[in-house]
Amino acid sequence: MAKPISIAIDGPAGAGKSTIARRLAKELGFYYVDTGAIYRTVAYFFDLWGVSPKDIDGITRYIDELTIGIEYDDEGVQHMIMNGMDVTGDIRTPDLSQKASLVSAHAIVRDLLLDMQREMAEKHNVIMDGRDIGTVVLPKATVKIFLTATPEVRAKRRTELIAKGQKADYNKILKDIQQRDYQDTHREIAPLKMARDSVKLDTSELDIDGVIAAMKEIIARKVTL
Ligand code: C5P
Repeated sequence: MAKPISIAIDGPAGAGKSTIARRLAKELGFYYVDTGAIYRTVAYFFDLWGVSPKDIDGITRYIDELTIGIEYDDEGVQHMIMNGMDVTGDIRTPDLSQKASLVSAHAIVRDLLLDMQREMAEKHNVIMDGRDIGTVVLPKATVKIFLTATPEVRAKRRTELIAKGQKADYNKILKDIQQRDYQDTHREIAPLKMARDSVKLDTSELDIDGVIAAMKEIIARKVTL
């Protein structure tokens, strides 16, 4: 069997990674692996246990109690399974965004999740998005793309998305994005940065179709679609 194709998409919070990756994966018939959801699941677990995401002693003590699984439904939607429970609907809160950003800074957490992510890419054609996919998880990915946009544009998009279901405060969302940008780029282990062989795509001035078209062009340079 030919080696699976892997498309690594990294970038800061709100750059549109998951929306774009999900759509592209569907079009290409690839698995979409949302690695942020895995870190969110870890954050949720420690939240339930009352362990602060900064408390490395507590995390070290309880991490063996955690089992994480990834499953896909018939629509190709990724489900996060925490100790046998489907927690997919519980992990997308602003509070867990922050906690995931803090908990993901610990080596013990990142090490636990590394093999799981790599195994997915060994078995399937994947589009995997996160912060360290091109640099650490899949350094030999077939295609690497770094998606970015200004913090203001990212906050505006997120505000519009959230406002569909609940009240959304642009200034609060912008602050959260800036704080996560800082944490994710300044941590010691696997910080958010562009891999040297990654193609940067600034989506500030593009709509979703524009981003998809640009991504396909980048992918087509390496892979026959
Ligand atoms: O992508 P998402 O916003 O769901 O990610 C939540 C947090 O998980 C990020 O702010 C980041 O700190 C962490 N993360 C990470 N490495 C990844 C994916 C996410 O550290 N590959």
